[in-house]
Amino acid sequence: MSQTLYYSTNLKANKVDFKGALLKGLAPDGGLYMPESIPVFTGSEMGSFRSMAYYDIAYQVARKYLHEEIEDSELLGLVKDAYNYDVPLENVYDKKYIMHLDQGPTASFKDFAARMMGRLMQYFLKKENNNLLILTATSGDTGSAIANAFYGLDNIRVVVLFPETEVTERQRKQMTTLHKNVQIISIDGKFDDCQALVKTAFNDAELKFLNLSSANSINIGRLIPQSIYYFYAYSRLCDITKEEKILFSVPSGNFGDLMGGLIAYKMGLPVKKFVVATNKNDEVPEYFLTGNYKTIVPSLNCISSAMNVGHPSNMARIVALYGGVMNEKGEVIRSPDMEAMKRDMFTISIDDKETLDTLKMVYNRHGVLLEPHGSVGWAGLRHYFDFVPEDHTAEQVAVCLETAHPAKFPAEIQDILGFDPELPESMVGLEEKEEQFVKLKNNYDIFRQYLKSNY
Ligand SMILES: *Cc1c(COP(=O)(O)O)cnc(C)c1O
Repeated sequence: MSQTLYYSTNLKANKVDFKGALLKGLAPDGGLYMPESIPVFTGSEMGSFRSMAYYDIAYQVARKYLHEEIEDSELLGLVKDAYNYDVPLENVYDKKYIMHLDQGPTASFKDFAARMMGRLMQYFLKKENNNLLILTATSGDTGSAIANAFYGLDNIRVVVLFPETEVTERQRKQMTTLHKNVQIISIDGKFDDCQALVKTAFNDAELKFLNLSSANSINIGRLIPQSIYYFYAYSRLCDITKEEKILFSVPSGNFGDLMGGLIAYKMGLPVKKFVVATNKNDEVPEYFLTGNYKTIVPSLNCISSAMNVGHPSNMARIVALYGGVMNEKGEVIRSPDMEAMKRDMFTISIDDKETLDTLKMVYNRHGVLLEPHGSVGWAGLRHYFDFVPEDHTAEQVAVCLETAHPAKFPAEIQDILGFDPELPESMVGLEEKEEQFVKLKNNYDIFRQYLKSNY
């Protein structure tokens, strides 16, 4: 195995090693980092995953990229610590499954990426005796996934800004009851104001000493963790010696989840097709249909709110994977191999009505409880089977990714099904925990002074 280097999708920055890409986040030319070559598994390597625990599969996948940069024993300890929760595969009918990626500390699939990214950062920082301050703004869920994932880590402190009146009580408590190395600040403004404060801080020379990092969704550190559960699902449901191929349906917003799947596929995982399901923000299904990529500004509000994205940040990576170049504005500089993309992916846009109808139907017919994002994925899978009926056999294994826990959407579930979903373990007892957060005015000088005197 040789060392993997990472290039920028804008092709104007130097290649870096994994540590460089992880700690930088965005490449200096504004592009996203991509592995220059993708390591592959042999069939017998993948066959051995059948009897491995989730964290062991995580170790095997991550090791392909990181063996030159992290000692094996350190890497194994790191993934064991990151993945200390279940990944249930629930049968719906025949060999059709829901993979619940909602058993982590914030009941969202974002925990998978954030927990491993945090531990990778901690590893490299400790080694260099360096510190990092993660500064991020949130409208609810991303901030709590980051805060929980980095909670208790050494050499890393976290500051999350949230708009005072724009997050739910539950979302706020998922962040403000942590303490330790996690500081939460409410701003008397909107989400955009919080983002503006963060952005100004990143460009402030006086704050250079803080070594700020954003840990945002485009970081390469999220990509590898998001390919692992695809291997896991295959290992539990398929037999590689029988050359079985698996179908995945991926509810998509910024396309990081899907990108993880495509990486797994390029690493050799026998995938029949990726069903790529979006809500009414259908810029990617339109691109597949027409060959013209047009961003949606402003993005449309749908009930699968974590997927309200009018220009997915990972699109540049997908285009790069298929030989094209797309810049950060969404302009296609060099066309990717559209035929190959269509061979590998089936894209579909699902509206809110169908999302809710599907949620209700899956519960009434199969007794399986989804939430709006997973429901978009399931609706997408049904469209695929209508479109390609020869793949709708009893033997065909299909897995739809469920990206959040239904208890995060109590109002919607109450509305459609008339009951309150049971809380996952991670959310029980939240009400009683002590909250701690700082309130600041929406003013950059005050915010800067706060950072200077506290860090
Ligand atoms: C972030 C998120 C998504 C979308 O994932 P992408 O990687 O951005 O495509 C879907 N569902 C939930 C619940 C999310 O939080």
